[in-house]
This record gives sequence, structure tokens and C-alpha cells, in this order.
Amino acid sequence: MTTAVLPSSAGRPHAGRVAWVTGSTSGIGWAIARQLASEGAAIALHGREAASARTEAQLAELHALGVAARYYALDLAEGEAIAPLAARIEAELGAVDILVNNAGMQHVESVLQFPPAKWEAMLAVNLSAPFRTIQACTPAMLERGWGRIINMASVSGLVGVARKPAYVASKHGLLGLTKSVALELATTPVTCNAICPGWVLTPLVQAQIDALASREGLDPTAARAKLLGAKQPSQAFVTVEQVASLASYLASDHAAQVRGAQWNMDGGFTAA
Ligand code: NAD
Repeated sequence: MTTAVLPSSAGRPHAGRVAWVTGSTSGIGWAIARQLASEGAAIALHGREAASARTEAQLAELHALGVAARYYALDLAEGEAIAPLAARIEAELGAVDILVNNAGMQHVESVLQFPPAKWEAMLAVNLSAPFRTIQACTPAMLERGWGRIINMASVSGLVGVARKPAYVASKHGLLGLTKSVALELATTPVTCNAICPGWVLTPLVQAQIDALASREGLDPTAARAKLLGAKQPSQAFVTVEQVASLASYLASDHAAQVRGAQWNMDGGFTAA
């Protein structure tokens, strides 16, 4: 809740738009919600957890930016409930103009021990949920003659990573979905693109740092350095604000001909 909002040189380019950012109670999604709100978009804030004092405080922060915002709780593993939620957002906030499929989960374990239920859950949340939100939101975008779909993939959508079979498979799948949808919509005013961050310091990555520290007996600083050192040539984390600024660009009119992109922001992770 203390993340900085990047100043927009173009005023409020998303004024009048409605943005649904899935998984926006934390990390990258929260930064994107703040960024789009600071540039005028009404926000459907979404997370798995029930509404709480924390989500109320987040809504207050968005309202203070002068936009409408409501909180929606849904576990995206409940696929059948996604279309009804999209209909509720449309009824309460307006049709979704900017859909950011950001929610994601991680589980790190050898493919040999990987629990099948975790595999199913990860594909449901990381891949099938974006399919369903796209199916639910795109018709109104086409009717209204404008739309942006932004999928939060990962460098794990571009290269393989050991001990992350379901995450890597789901993010590769999400890039395939992104390109297929972008091509299907290529002659329309609706674009579909993906962002592929490297390591970003969020709760999802902090859990991996904590696991590394306890597995190898490292202090937190050494564990962070080891995590970055292994893969990210810049040796620096990508920030949530940097990812949010890219999402804002992809949501803008300037990005009308960016289609089917798998845009990496990874400190050189995939350049090697
Ligand atoms: P985070 O853990 O801080 O936030 C995840 C968000 O997703 C939360 O709002 C959570 O409520 C929501 N979520 C998780 N499971 C859900 C479910 N079953 N139903 C509904 N919502 C659910 O994580 P983050 O690091 O900000 O990750 C956001 C996205 O960015 C994810 O898709 C992740 O794979 C991707 N990503 C993160 C990194 C990184 O280094 N942090 C790198 C590449 C890609």
C-alpha cells in the first residue's frame, strides 16, 4: 500500500475506462491498479481473499485518486464463477475496457514429487482463468469498439526453469493464448499482449527467497543475492512500478498496434 505511483506525462490517459485487474490485492497487480487509477481508470480490484480492512484501505486509496473502485473476491480456480463475476463488474462499474490477467500462483517442487492437485490448480488459475475472463469480457469490448487485454506471463513463459513444471507450463500456455487471441482480434480495436517479468520482489518471490534461505542456511540478504545471481544478469529486482508503467503503456492508445507481444522486463534474464 506504500508503492509509489509513476507520474504520467500525458495527464489521465485512461479516464473513462474500466479496468479489471485480477489478483490486485498485492504485488504487481496492486501496483497496476494504482497506476491505472492514477491515470483515470475505474478499478475492479480483485483477490482470492474476502473483503477486509486491508481491501477497504486499498479502495480508499483508489477513491482518493478520483476514480470509482470496488472490490471483488473470487478464487479463480472456480472457473464457472468467472463469467458471472464479469457480469457483476459490468453491472456495478461498467463494461471492462482493460482486462489485466495478473493473478497467479507458484509452487516449486521436482516434477517427480509435484502434487497432481497443485498442477491442476495452477493451470486453472494461471491459464484457464485468463481464457475465461477473455471469453467473458471481449464481446463488450468489440461492441464498444475498444479494448485491451494484458496477460501477466513471466520469463518462465519464454524459457524453462527446473522444479517449476506447472508454473512454466502455465506461463508458456498463457503466451500461446495471448498470440492466438491477438491474431483472432488483429483487425479489431481490441489488442492482446503479454508481459514477461523476471524476478520482481513481491510476496510470491519472497516465499521463494525464504525457502532458499532455510534450505541453504542463508541470511535474507545472501538468499536474495543468490536468487538474482543465478538468473538475472542486472543483479537487481524489477520493480512493481516498472511493470505497472508497461501495463499502462499497453493499455494506452499509443499501443494500438502492439499485438501478440511477449514483452520481457527481466534485467537481461532471457538475453543470455
Ligand atoms: P503476489 O503473490 O504478490 O500476488 C498474487 C495475486 O494473485 C494476489 O492478489 C492473490 O490474491 C491473487 N491470487 C493468487 N491465487 C489466486 C486465486 N486462486 N484466485 C484469485 N486470485 C488469486 O504475486 P506477484 O508476484 O505480484 O504476481 C503477480 C503475477 O505476476 C503472477 O501471475 C505471477 O506469476 C507474475 N509474475 C511474477 C513475478 C515475480 O517475480 N514476482 C515474475 C514473473 C511473473
